[in-house]
Amino acid sequence: MKIERIEAKSIPDTRGKPTVEVTLHAGELSARASVPSGKSTGSHEAKELRDADGGVETAVANVTGEIAREIALRDFASADELDTFLIALDNTPDKSRLGANAILGVSIAAQRLFAQQAGVPLWKAIAERAKTTPGAPRLYVNVMNGGVHADFRLPFQEYILVCEGKTSSALATARAAFEKLGAELPSIMLGTGGDVPMGDEGGYSPTFDTLEKPFELLAALAAEHSGTSIAIDAAANELRDGKSNYILLKKTYAPNELGMIYHTLVERFPFHSIEDPFSEDATQDFVRLTDALRGKCLVVGDDFTVTNPERIEAAREAGAITAVLIKPNQIGSVKEAIEAVEATHDAGWAAICSHRSGETMDTFIADFAYGVGAHGIKAGGLGQKQRLEKYERLLEIEKEAER
Ligand code: PEP
Ligand code: MG
Repeated sequence: MKIERIEAKSIPDTRGKPTVEVTLHAGELSARASVPSGKSTGSHEAKELRDADGGVETAVANVTGEIAREIALRDFASADELDTFLIALDNTPDKSRLGANAILGVSIAAQRLFAQQAGVPLWKAIAERAKTTPGAPRLYVNVMNGGVHADFRLPFQEYILVCEGKTSSALATARAAFEKLGAELPSIMLGTGGDVPMGDEGGYSPTFDTLEKPFELLAALAAEHSGTSIAIDAAANELRDGKSNYILLKKTYAPNELGMIYHTLVERFPFHSIEDPFSEDATQDFVRLTDALRGKCLVVGDDFTVTNPERIEAAREAGAITAVLIKPNQIGSVKEAIEAVEATHDAGWAAICSHRSGETMDTFIADFAYGVGAHGIKAGGLGQKQRLEKYERLLEIEKEAER
């Protein structure tokens, strides 16, 4: 395929922060992609190129300048070939020269172009490329936001209701649970009552003075709806006290004490998974928790593994986790995100595909999760349209797959 024209511009994400949008043109075909952006980012992620003022003008100029010039000189047989070319063109281990945001925008739009050329839905093109069996992921619906996504009104970053089954029934369950919780919160949360604050990812963000209260609420929802369970993203990088301990609700905990908290929560509540229970390089703490919770609850790496096949391999050697979060922008290309899924599946672990806390209307992650047959998808709460778009796309895919 000859990509003749590339446009790129800066658009606002859900936090109003600039991010990159790319449009590719090849003959009659054209495809667009926009790139999400994280807030609780791991230090081992590929580099999102930001200008001194927080803008993405340099990344945009890299797409319309060097990348467009080099791509126009070539004909690509596949999206994989194009990604390989982009990775070599950048020629840094972390995509810091051209920017992971610049490269991923082109990579996703190119995947869409090749799917169009083949005349197949995006999820199918991804499944063929990844050699995976497509299928509906569990919905990890973020019903309460805390941590850096909500000024620490709750200690952990994400309180999630995991909904199993076909997307249409899982989403109906999530909607009922989300609405019920929204109606209950004003009378039980701390503060003045009235409107419930919302967090970055479109979930509620109440305040409580005990660690357990949000789990009691989630457990009540899980008891009401079969096929549901609880997950959290502790995002423990953000809980560090600057030494080797963690702070929750103004109290300091050593790693083993934090491990005991998780253990007690899993014993008491119907848990499905715990993401980033410790900071990004605390491998031995991950190993201990994974061993303690084996068969009871998945331990998920996010900042710990950063969608990087090499870090996933190292985690496998250590036996540190049982599931991996897959965020394409942590690694910066569709090709490497697929390799991260492969490394995850090779380890016998669950892959959970994820949006970022700063999102756009782009629904690529829905097709990606379905295409690779992911264990789950984190697409946020039901109170923000950029999150709902991903769930709507999964509903469309359900219909496409039945045809
Ligand atoms: C996460 O930590 O899983 C997440 C989605 O948040 P962010 O995009 O801020 O990393
Ligand atoms: Mg996370």
